[in-house]
Amino acid sequence: MLQKLHRVAGLGYWQMSLTTGEVYWSSVVYEFFGVEPSSFIPGQEAFMAMVYPSDREKVAKALHAMLETGLNDITYRIVRPNGSIRWLHEMADNTSPDNPHIIFGTMHDITAQKALEEKLRKQAITDDLTGVFNRRYFMKRLRQAFSHFRRSGQNAAVLLFDVDYFKTVNDTYGHATGDLVLQQLCSLFKERFRVTDVVGRLGGEEFAVLLFEVSSEDAMAIAEDIRQMLAAKALTTKSGSTCHISVTCGVARFAEDDPTEESILHRADRSLYLGKHHGRDQVVGDGDH
Ligand code: GH3
Ligand code: MG
Ligand code: MG
Repeated sequence: MLQKLHRVAGLGYWQMSLTTGEVYWSSVVYEFFGVEPSSFIPGQEAFMAMVYPSDREKVAKALHAMLETGLNDITYRIVRPNGSIRWLHEMADNTSPDNPHIIFGTMHDITAQKALEEKLRKQAITDDLTGVFNRRYFMKRLRQAFSHFRRSGQNAAVLLFDVDYFKTVNDTYGHATGDLVLQQLCSLFKERFRVTDVVGRLGGEEFAVLLFEVSSEDAMAIAEDIRQMLAAKALTTKSGSTCHISVTCGVARFAEDDPTEESILHRADRSLYLGKHHGRDQVVGDGDH
């Protein structure tokens, strides 16, 4: 009965003899680890071998501390024999044991909870429509990059893209095609930029990209490459026909005399404005005005 309840609750428990080192696992723990009681003998080493490699040090420390304090509260991952990863939460309070030679702890499978946390964390930093980062996250990364630049001199550049005459796209093909166009533009960004580059939607049809360790020339060339790729690309409309768009881009490289990260964006925005003013479909940098 108790076993059944433990299974329903996803709760396992273990015991270890301090005199013999022998370890007992409840059947639910075997299920967590994906091993059979008939063929697997639990013990410190066998257990540790199944802990996710980068979590081993943390787990070893926690077990060591538990032997001293009698308390344990730790979250870690294991790798099951089939390669799948599970998150476990282990707790123990052996501060006033009935038998001082035996310690025991509980184990809870929190994999689903961890997956949900990860999903929410991603959602909180992602733009729903396009899948690129949202404004808040982009600004956070820009702030971090700027303070890193201040400390270490590691340079970076911001590319600020705005779709030209986007209102006309909506008016001509409908808002749903407008959305589709933004998604296709972001697919192009994802193809062209590296995973370490930070692409964010600042709002509407305006996107910013943070590039690390690039010269002004490189940043301009990358922006120009995107502009040309896009100019040559037939985008799909909702009705299955094709349409074309262009972008104007303002480029700003971090500068010693930028008082804040906002001023970098401001310079990129000023270049973007000049590009719009001079006919759109072009890349404008700090050196161009
Ligand atoms: P410009 O070349 O000067 O940039 O012209 P524009 O028409 O692109 O500029 P404006 O900023 O005046 O218009 C942007 C339009 O983008 C207005 C707004 O309705 C549209 N828009 C903003 N967000 C979205 C969106 O998520 N989906 C769609 N379909 N349209 C959007
Ligand atoms: Mg626009
Ligand atoms: Mg705009």
